[in-house]
Amino acid sequence: MNIAILSRGPKLYSTSRLKEAGLKRGHKVRVVDYLRCSMDITSHRPKMFYKGEPLVGIDAVIPRIGASHTFYGTAVVRQFEMMGVYPLNESQAISRSRDKLRSLQLLSRAGVGLPVTAFAHSPRDVSAIIETVKGAPLVVKLLEGTQGIGVVLCETQSAAESVIEAFRGLNAYILAQEFIAEAGGMDIRCLVVGGRVVASMKRQGAKGEFRSNLHRGGNAEKMKITPEERSTAVRAAKVMGLSVSGVDLLRSNHGPVVMEVNSSPGLEGIEGATGIDVADKIIEHIEKQAKPGATKDKGRG
Ligand code: ADP
Repeated sequence: MNIAILSRGPKLYSTSRLKEAGLKRGHKVRVVDYLRCSMDITSHRPKMFYKGEPLVGIDAVIPRIGASHTFYGTAVVRQFEMMGVYPLNESQAISRSRDKLRSLQLLSRAGVGLPVTAFAHSPRDVSAIIETVKGAPLVVKLLEGTQGIGVVLCETQSAAESVIEAFRGLNAYILAQEFIAEAGGMDIRCLVVGGRVVASMKRQGAKGEFRSNLHRGGNAEKMKITPEERSTAVRAAKVMGLSVSGVDLLRSNHGPVVMEVNSSPGLEGIEGATGIDVADKIIEHIEKQAKPGATKDKGRG
């Protein structure tokens, strides 16, 4: 097969591992910087150009779209869909997963376990959302935050009010969430490929840190998950419509709750912690799924 990895960094761990795994399984693999793709969207035969030259003969694309380039990156994936190229994750599913609030609403509608979460536009409704999550301690999150930045634990009601007012004063959207203290700074990352959890690890925050993000000094270890955690991760990926995703769970007193579903999960942490060749499993999944015209929504969204 002829596979293109849509990534800005050929040297990034995940990108280079996916390329290596594809080559090893006998495919032609190239890394394409999606910001250098241009498109002819008007013709009956949609076309893609890379650095000005027509890009043809691609059977499958692996989108690795950075959070800051979701808009253009998903347009490129959509164009490939219109051309009948199989995308590992579809453009609509990627856009959906990048909107935290929309994701939580979709998961909630499907009955997937979530922390109690509230959201408001007006600073005048701050006390209502604090009440919804049953008061302090509670977690306030910037909707646009990643890697744990903008995730604040508010120990008291007045701290929560101040933090929410400050963020809203800067016109930043936030959500308030019940604090899952019993998670003890630990979360579980499940790598879901084609409806199966192929690897799982726990991430533990540094001492005194409730956020488990590896970027914040947390450490990762392989972990066996319960059947309930497994089915929660698989369902969350399915609701989001993602073939490959990283589902983050917390262990709460009311069962596993989903924090986030990531459409471009990093492979370095999970392959390092578990020793599992996740990249190989992803390529194997593409081999099974990618048939000409196999994209479900053909760029309709
Ligand atoms: P980001 O998307 O920026 O990583 P998350 O919402 O995943 O932000 O939060 C980062 C980390 O903070 C989580 O992995 C988890 O360890 C911790 N955390 C987030 N929300 C809660 C919560 N409601 N209760 C307990 N811990 C939380």
